[in-house]
Amino acid sequence: MKIILAKSAGFCWGVSRAVDKARGLADAGDGPIYTDGPLIHNEQLMARLRSEGILETDNPGDASKGTLLIRAHGISPERRLALTRHAACLVDATCPDVAKIQGKIRKHARTGYDIIIYGDEGHAEVIGLLGYAEGKGHVVNGRDDVEQLPQLDKVCLVSQSTQFPAAYSGIAELVKMRFPGAVVLDTICIATKRRQAELLEIAGQADVIVVVGGAHSANTVRLVELAKTKKPTIHIQTADDIDAGMLKDFRVAGLSAGASTPAFIIDEVMARLEKI
Ligand code: SF4
Repeated sequence: MKIILAKSAGFCWGVSRAVDKARGLADAGDGPIYTDGPLIHNEQLMARLRSEGILETDNPGDASKGTLLIRAHGISPERRLALTRHAACLVDATCPDVAKIQGKIRKHARTGYDIIIYGDEGHAEVIGLLGYAEGKGHVVNGRDDVEQLPQLDKVCLVSQSTQFPAAYSGIAELVKMRFPGAVVLDTICIATKRRQAELLEIAGQADVIVVVGGAHSANTVRLVELAKTKKPTIHIQTADDIDAGMLKDFRVAGLSAGASTPAFIIDEVMARLEKI
């Protein structure tokens, strides 16, 4: 089987930076290293990190004698304050692209804007972003949510960093109709735009698309949705999920992976596909 591998497959720079920071701390031997929630949505890498002494926790008190790392998704100011009180040492691995969105939200909230966030309610990044809206944040995920918003005077719209640009444009049009004069900020990160654009490019040359990534990885799930609009698509988490039977009708596979898929898993998938 011929494989076309997307150059953007796998870790984005924000995730790569967070993982490197955690490993750097563990290598320095500065006591136990905890991450505030799962560092990345990938079970296989999480298991490796655990074996390297990097442990996930929901209880900041665990880090009263160690280092606590804020992951790439970022957190709200309230959560940051709580972590500062509990952890002996707090290290921030918020992706700079997420930090920029947080800053824009805070700036607009402080000048009288209500903030509408286009994103997945309950996603860690969105929870963190909401905290910067200083009580004036609203999360929307579709047309109905926009219609159900209360009447607002000054509105600023931002997006979670990993949403579809086309879907965000649609939401922006609805918001501008509902709230004329709304400020719309382009906050989908470059890594996400590049990954989605490249997926569409390889879809034009492949018979089937294989997307590798965790079942709980929001950006992976969106990649799968996007791929399905173009070609038959298979979502796998590891090479072990590949069944030669499901690929027997195809000659060329396009391969991409979510932002939290480590390179070793992509390599294993490539090797398995090449044998088919
Ligand atoms: S997807 Fe974009 S915003 Fe999110 S961690 Fe990666 S580079 Fe940063």
